[in-house]
Amino acid sequence: MLNPLLTLKRILQDSARAADRDEMVKLMAAQIKKAMSVDVCSLYLLSPEKDLKLSATEGLDNASVGKIRMPFGQGLVGTVALTQHSLNLERGDQHPKFLFFEQTGEERFKGFLGVPLIYHGDTIGVLVVQVYDPRKFTDEEEAFLVTMAAHLAGTLGSGVIKSNINAQESNHAVQRLIGIKGAPGIAFCRVKVVKDEVDINQIPTLYGEYYSEEKKRLDQAVAETLDDLEAQMGNMDASAGATLDALLEVYRMLLASPELKTVFDEMLEQGYAAETALRDAFLRQVEVFEAMEDPYLRSKAEDLRVLAGKLYRRLTNNTSSRIMTDTPVILAGRLVSVSHFGRIDANKLAGVISKEGSALSHTGVLANALGIPAVMGLEDLNLDNVDNQDVIVDGNRGIVILNPPEPVVLEYQRLMRQVKALDADLAPLKNLPAETLDGEQVALLTNTGLLADISPGLERGAEGIGLYRSEIPFMVHHNFPTEEEQQITYRGVLGAYAPKPVTMRILDIGGDKPLPYFPITEENPFLGWRGIRFTLDYTNIMLEQLRAMMLASRGHNNLKVMIPMFSREDELQRFLQIFELAITQLRDEGRDIQRPQVGVMIEVPSALWLISRVRDQVDFISIGSNDLTQYLLAVDRNNSRVASLYDSLHPSVLMALKFIIMEANRLKLPVSLCGEMAGDPVSVVLLLAMGLRQLSMSAYKIPRIKSLIRHLDINDCQNVLDDVLKLSDEKLMRQRVEDFIKGLGLTALLGV
Ligand code: PEP
Ligand code: MG
Repeated sequence: MLNPLLTLKRILQDSARAADRDEMVKLMAAQIKKAMSVDVCSLYLLSPEKDLKLSATEGLDNASVGKIRMPFGQGLVGTVALTQHSLNLERGDQHPKFLFFEQTGEERFKGFLGVPLIYHGDTIGVLVVQVYDPRKFTDEEEAFLVTMAAHLAGTLGSGVIKSNINAQESNHAVQRLIGIKGAPGIAFCRVKVVKDEVDINQIPTLYGEYYSEEKKRLDQAVAETLDDLEAQMGNMDASAGATLDALLEVYRMLLASPELKTVFDEMLEQGYAAETALRDAFLRQVEVFEAMEDPYLRSKAEDLRVLAGKLYRRLTNNTSSRIMTDTPVILAGRLVSVSHFGRIDANKLAGVISKEGSALSHTGVLANALGIPAVMGLEDLNLDNVDNQDVIVDGNRGIVILNPPEPVVLEYQRLMRQVKALDADLAPLKNLPAETLDGEQVALLTNTGLLADISPGLERGAEGIGLYRSEIPFMVHHNFPTEEEQQITYRGVLGAYAPKPVTMRILDIGGDKPLPYFPITEENPFLGWRGIRFTLDYTNIMLEQLRAMMLASRGHNNLKVMIPMFSREDELQRFLQIFELAITQLRDEGRDIQRPQVGVMIEVPSALWLISRVRDQVDFISIGSNDLTQYLLAVDRNNSRVASLYDSLHPSVLMALKFIIMEANRLKLPVSLCGEMAGDPVSVVLLLAMGLRQLSMSAYKIPRIKSLIRHLDINDCQNVLDDVLKLSDEKLMRQRVEDFIKGLGLTALLGV
């Protein structure tokens, strides 16, 4: 007969002589084990990270105390905690929720009884007893443990909460920070905090003696800064060569911009020193970019600040030194800049984390090109106590874990080994076709915008460019680029991919993509003067762009031209008139050009019902699933308040996609998809089932999507699609497809 009062009395006596809380919980576990004559008694308590930590055990391996952790809902213990219900199992080791931790030796125990510790309605821990033999615990035993748990919860409750607060204040507490995904990949190593670049707002107001002297200082600083940049970039990994050239070009362009020069001159003429001229000229530009809605353009403000810092250091002869380290490190800072990358040996740079910054900044672009994981926008990152701490950077999920506990480290190390093995396994796929098990060929192309993105696609076996966003070079320019300038840029892209096809989309500005030198103010920019609507009002811009594209394609003849935001038939007709005019003009000028194929993007809902009507006037269509989702669901793709409603798996979007693909196939009109869905494994299963055979995505997603396709059978995909279309909740739909992908043994391809 179990006697709870006697056991409690003993526990209280033990507590009085315990030196600290750890010893106290250990004595409690020992008393309960003894009173119940069980083989194991363990106590899991709520940790500051809100998971359950093994805090004491009598019977399991003591070395695992403090190391075994379980989130709510996971494992038997996590299930008890989440449901706040006891779990009494004859064979705990056979329960689907059983989690095996090798270090505990737990697998030897069969009978399991876990009860929650509830304090003021919240779970603060779980008390567990286990026995070797398979047996269910009696009602009396269960009642005894529930009674023990109730008393312990009262005794420990306030203590657990208090110790959590203390632990949170400690430098060595585990901390999980959520930021913005900058570049994919995982790293685990020591942090090195890098000093801020100069904050231009802090530059003082100074006056110069002589205009000519100040001007000379400023010109010299500009020239030296460019030399520095070239030298720093020379230190970096050669694999990022194209990216670096492109970045350098952007910096050159920024430094040469007339907006900066005008303010420099104005300020110097008014008697200010070079430092102050630099501050005001850059701040004015920064303000312009920071006010922009488009995240790509906003990120340029960041680049301008970094550049201003470099110039200032040159002006004040305060040049930065190399970052010395013997072992690989994760650089952390308010803003880790491109110049930090250049001051550390490439093989010592394992990752990047920063309080500010966005995925579209140059740092993000460069981290991607160098294959280094990066997480930005970590507002809660405390730079004062992170130096030298061990950190996990999970660029795939935009998560950083400071001082990770051992089980988490082991898990991530396993993941890193898996990713390495996966990449090695996938590398030989580069030259293999994306062909399903039943012999269906799928073309995988890449999306680009900057010259910086060119090589990653080629390195991963892209079969061409499915979407070249031509507005991006326009956005990094200081005014509408000339036909000649455009021709040079386009030739770089077309030449790099020739003879593979390159689909260049004509200017798609407006909406969230205004040009800095051509502001458009509208109440409803996404429903306004965007894409083809804009260029049809500026036919000279369209004509020049088409001429530049066709001239750039000479000798390669791999150009295809695509119209964004197509929503009316007359838009296509008016476009074709200008297109014909460009061809006639060029031929009349004696230029040997070939007529490129022409296609329209299907991204505005009205275009769905125009496909058959324009069939004979176009050579292909491409689905812009990003905008199609936005316009079908009336959900702004950039508005975080409605972000949870923006899901391309919404049944209406799926039905629209099914219709477009069926219609195109019926009309024998080549169709591709170039929105984000193309790189999402779940969407790809559904798109193939619908009959799509051409996808264009960001380069690093190609190997994984190819691997997925090579494991698929179209009939199976169709069954999954049928199931999915019967569901109404996007989460359940995603789950159904993920289960299918997992069933193929391809779990590793998900979430990357
Ligand atoms: C799209 O809308 O899906 C698309 C590919 O174009 P963008 O993202 O550039 O609008
Ligand atoms: Mg679009």
